[in-house]
Amino acid sequence: MVYETNGRHPRKCVAKRHERIENGDLGADSNMVESDHDVALQDTDRIHGRTALVNNVRAASSLAGAIRSTLGPKGLDKMLVDEDGSALVTNDGVTVLETASVEHPTARLLIDASSSQDRAARDGTTTTVLLVSEMLQNALELVRMGVHPSVIVNGYGIALEESVSELERISRDSDKGQKMQVVRTTLQGKGDSALCEKISSLAVRAADGLSEEDGGDGLERLRVKRLQVRQGNVMETDLVSGLMLLKSRVDPASPPNSDGGNVAIIDGSLGQAKLEVNASIEVESTGVLGEFHERARDSIRKQVEHLSSIGADLLVVRDGIDDEAVPILTDSGITAYRRFERKDLDLLTKITGAKPAREVSRIGKEDLGSYSKRSEESIADVKHTFIEGRGAGMTLVVKGSSSAIREEAIRIFDDAIGVAHRLGSRPGVLPGGGAIQAHLARHLRSFSQTQSGREQLAIEAYASALESIPRILAENAGRDPVEVALSLSASQEESGPWIGFDIKTGENLDMGEAGILDPEFVVRHALSGATEAAIGVLRIDDVLWAKTDPSTPDWQEEDAED
Ligand code: ADP
Ligand code: MG
Repeated sequence: MVYETNGRHPRKCVAKRHERIENGDLGADSNMVESDHDVALQDTDRIHGRTALVNNVRAASSLAGAIRSTLGPKGLDKMLVDEDGSALVTNDGVTVLETASVEHPTARLLIDASSSQDRAARDGTTTTVLLVSEMLQNALELVRMGVHPSVIVNGYGIALEESVSELERISRDSDKGQKMQVVRTTLQGKGDSALCEKISSLAVRAADGLSEEDGGDGLERLRVKRLQVRQGNVMETDLVSGLMLLKSRVDPASPPNSDGGNVAIIDGSLGQAKLEVNASIEVESTGVLGEFHERARDSIRKQVEHLSSIGADLLVVRDGIDDEAVPILTDSGITAYRRFERKDLDLLTKITGAKPAREVSRIGKEDLGSYSKRSEESIADVKHTFIEGRGAGMTLVVKGSSSAIREEAIRIFDDAIGVAHRLGSRPGVLPGGGAIQAHLARHLRSFSQTQSGREQLAIEAYASALESIPRILAENAGRDPVEVALSLSASQEESGPWIGFDIKTGENLDMGEAGILDPEFVVRHALSGATEAAIGVLRIDDVLWAKTDPSTPDWQEEDAED
């Protein structure tokens, strides 16, 4: 059976409005059969059936080819140059892909799979794209042999399910000490290794300081402020518990330090409502203006009295604080800070447990938060304020003289804390160095024997796609990929699935002992994301390229009828 006809394929999009019926005017009821011969699409280039698949696979392979050499710790860097000539050197697959301007829709599909991997697991992005491309190439081989894509789609689905249950079987829970090794493995190649080492330990500490409810996936990063300091060496970057800000108190006459107390947070301003833009008063005599000021001052005094009566000694205001209020606050024993960024205010809310209010009058005793320490410190000769409380919240103080190096440290930290935090709730780890993929491939080959004929071929094709990972790792380390794959398979046969290829020594080692560990959630998401993307491409049998205005009318409607 050759994959060329179109009516039976799982997904097709045909814009009927654009059809020109060449063989006479067929009425709505007539038994119209769509085929290449009697339907043409105006203003559309159409690529069909196997040609569409060949084109799509070609696009996927060339994309994978672009990042193939970055896989693994010995992967090479790519230099990305944008239109105005500024360059970025990176070894990170997803960065390369997201920066490149790629237009082919299939290639975009792969980039989306890689970005989704990045969002969900913070790692495994290169692996995902390489897997999709290998899965598609192997599928194309099968199609050429006469296997229908829907059989392959089926087989790939079965292979994924079996792989996931097998990896669950061999995964082990990481302990505290291994967390560091896992994070280190996931950061391989993402930057300078000494910096990665330093940043991983900070990220693991940060993740340990957060509880699970301190942010679901992706939110953990909000619990850590990044403060850049334009001085020193990036290796002096440090993590402090609490909020560190480039800011000093409104009134230098108020005390610079405190051993704790109660904080009120205003998500607005203090005492600046008077004489706003639209307000106007008719001034007949100087007395009226004086009276107005007096009333404004009175209102400020009342607000400060209120704060003081409920026991606040620290006031944080998102917008401004009226100058008139400054001495009144200090006299009442309240130290104040103004002009906070929203993120800092949110973090302070978490750290102190305070409930922010729009206005002072709306704050009650129960809305106050508590802090255990406040101090003003000078970092790189600039005044900073530090506030610590009982709630989880930290600041990464990133040092370094160039912004490029500080940004790199932040990028590494983001990936590292993402992985470390997820390991808290999903501690399973798997052997790295291509071990897990090599093992799954062997497992799938014997599993495929239990399946019916054609699916069996698809499952074997899936298995070889998985084997590309150890092969490419070997290639990138300058080793003979076939030789490495064979010896890896033999060693696993003898000593089990935890034996993998260590790039650094070139030997097959127990990955648990060597500390080359991939998080289970990364491996699993890469597998399912890659399979989904490959299946998505296999389901396409018709590609319609708009030649003119892409806003084709009524696509949705016509599709629904389809
Ligand atoms: P990805 O974007 O897919 O995470 P990486 O470039 O980070 O790609 O490479 C990840 C792969 O490198 C994983 O399969 C991991 O097991 C492997 N790896 C990491 N460290 C080593 C090592 N020392 N020896 C062999 N493989 C390693
Ligand atoms: Mg990685």
